[in-house]
Amino acid sequence: VIVLGRTAHAAPPMPELEAAALRAEVRGFLDEARRDGVFAPRCNAWMSGFSPQFSRELARRGWIGMTWPARYGGHERSAVDRHVVCEELLAAGAPVAAHWFADRQSGPQIYSHGSERLRTELLPHIAAGTCFFSIAMSEPDSGSDLASVRTRARRVNGGWRLTGRKLWTSHAHRSHFASVLCRTAETDDRHLGLSVMVVDLSADGVRINPIESISGEREWGELVLDDVDVPHWRVLGDPGDGWRLVTAELALERSGPERFLSTFPLLGELVASLRPELHAHCAAEIGSLVAELSTLRRMSLGVAVRLEQGRDLTVEAALVKDRGTQFERRTVEVARSLIAGECALAGRTDLVRLLEEAVLAAPGFTLRGGTTEILRGIVARQLVTK
Ligand SMILES: Cc1cc2nc3c(=O)[nH]c(=O)nc-3n(C[C@H](O)[C@H](O)[C@H](O)COP(=O)(O)OP(=O)(O)OC[C@H]3O[C@@H](n4cnc5c(N)ncnc54)[C@H](O)[C@@H]3O)c2cc1C
Repeated sequence: VIVLGRTAHAAPPMPELEAAALRAEVRGFLDEARRDGVFAPRCNAWMSGFSPQFSRELARRGWIGMTWPARYGGHERSAVDRHVVCEELLAAGAPVAAHWFADRQSGPQIYSHGSERLRTELLPHIAAGTCFFSIAMSEPDSGSDLASVRTRARRVNGGWRLTGRKLWTSHAHRSHFASVLCRTAETDDRHLGLSVMVVDLSADGVRINPIESISGEREWGELVLDDVDVPHWRVLGDPGDGWRLVTAELALERSGPERFLSTFPLLGELVASLRPELHAHCAAEIGSLVAELSTLRRMSLGVAVRLEQGRDLTVEAALVKDRGTQFERRTVEVARSLIAGECALAGRTDLVRLLEEAVLAAPGFTLRGGTTEILRGIVARQLVTK
């Protein structure tokens, strides 16, 4: 029942069914790659599974930059096609972290707000799986309250000179570029005077100190920017318009299927191991998860389609991320409690490994990309002002 795209309930038609051939193609490729030992499924693979080689292979198949115009290396496919590919990669626990941020948000932001020079410089390399991006919003004293960032840029001849410190920048030490939120003007309204710049991480003045996560992997970086020169054509949008850009970017960051499929490999392995059809209590727990998953998929796909039409979906994206990450955490708890009551686990090393990965990653689910409290604040404000 829980294999994606093969749900057994009689639901109304879903737009992604139109992409059934593409789904089958991606699934076939992933099955073969798994069989050949190219990757072992893991939880949280869109953050922890970093493989430039695998990303290049996906690019070769046209699965990065899918919706972008061909002149920028894209493949002019629909948002539904992209969503289907993302779902399959995530469900398989494939190592997609290397290109994930560039494909999901930096590339689309460059396409929508970048100069023509920047688009032609970077989009083809992102689509080829050879240019990786980090997102540098958070700072030591600015996480939830992004408008308080202290990283500053001042105008110099030909562009800007950037100084500051970013924290929790995922994969900074492995990326080629970062999009950096910074202050470019002092204003009474602190949501004005912010800008987003694309920074070459090999430039003079950039220092990156890797940070270990709780699992011992080096997933983050502290990004120190010391008088880094950024040419004017690498500023996204108009200088000072950064808040609007970041808000739009966060909708891309929060609404995708990675916000509820980080733990899907664990759920799949749980079903295979415990055979819920034999145990009523397991069936009830897992059935409840699957029902929620079905709803989340529809919400996320609906947002993807409407985002492509250029709509402002800040609130809808916040809802997907809030509900999705609660679901991911619940999956871990259900797995833990079902496994605890199960005696026949000998030999189920994959299940135990996936549970361990999920347990260690779970605290981050409801923090990264905006905490639960912040997301609910966004939704509540919308209800009050309506
Ligand atoms: C795995 C992971 C990956 C990450 N990757 C990146 C990345 O690539 N790039 C990047 O820029 N950042 C990244 N982050 C950082 C993440 O975005 C921040 O941790 C998050 O925004 C919270 O900010 P903070 O840690 O400063 O916490 P704080 O903002 O200090 O919040 C602390 C607590 O106070 C609560 N709180 C704060 N303000 C309010 C309020 N107004 N109302 C109610 N409650 C409030 C929060 O919900 C939270 O529980 C990552 C974080 C994690 C865990």
